[in-house]
Amino acid sequence: MAFKNVQGICKLCLQQQILCKSHYLGRALHVLSRDDGKNAIVLTPKIITAAPKQLWAHLLCAECEKRISRNGESYVLTQLNRRDKFALFETLKNAKPIHVEGDLQVFSCDELGIDAEKLAYFALSIVWRGSVHDWKTLDGQTTGVPLGPYEERIRQYLAGDSGFPADVLVAVHVCTDIGSQGMIYSPERVKGVHAIYSDHSFLVRGLWFHVYVGKDIPTAMREICCVNSPKKVIFMRSCEKEFAESGRYLQKDATISPKVAHLFD
Ligand SMILES: [Zn+2]
Repeated sequence: MAFKNVQGICKLCLQQQILCKSHYLGRALHVLSRDDGKNAIVLTPKIITAAPKQLWAHLLCAECEKRISRNGESYVLTQLNRRDKFALFETLKNAKPIHVEGDLQVFSCDELGIDAEKLAYFALSIVWRGSVHDWKTLDGQTTGVPLGPYEERIRQYLAGDSGFPADVLVAVHVCTDIGSQGMIYSPERVKGVHAIYSDHSFLVRGLWFHVYVGKDIPTAMREICCVNSPKKVIFMRSCEKEFAESGRYLQKDATISPKVAHLFD
């Protein structure tokens, strides 16, 4: 059966184009997660399912899909846990931290040749997609993370029309715990944070990204941004606690697809 090309306004370049099937978390990540022949378990606040292919929409033109891949996604896919190799974890494990605080180790991306800009671009491309579209999950439910006025600023940055957006921070945590290393959580707005900024986080196979937005983010906190801190910092620690908390939160509110219900008994 032939499918007609879908025309529309690309959400990134704002031009009338033929639109691709854009995946919420990027097509390549879905392919990677299914390369053992099974569908990955993807947790979103509304649904827990083994069928991530549902999370796509006609959103971006081919050029913009390529731009996102080239500026962040392809690189991140070489760095996250690919089962046979978890490159970023290996890099940090063998490196000297610039700071240690309990279980938390802080490293400099610059010193270790880690491409902080690409990590941040990827993180912003994911949360931005969560903001520009209501992702349909199951039974008419949707999931997403509205970014308010930051949505347009982040779009301009992703489209190459402006530099790194003001009042936006990206923090990257490389997870040492096995649970986080194997899971994907789609973006959610972290509850209970200080009202002067908001925190949108997601997990992709051992890399936990936090995108903070807000004009009143305290100066000291801005030091955690992988792009705008002087040493371009990146963190390594066990994310076991957040992993368990997010899992509990998601399970409480989510519809569990019958295909994976046995995993949550
Ligand atoms: Zn486009």
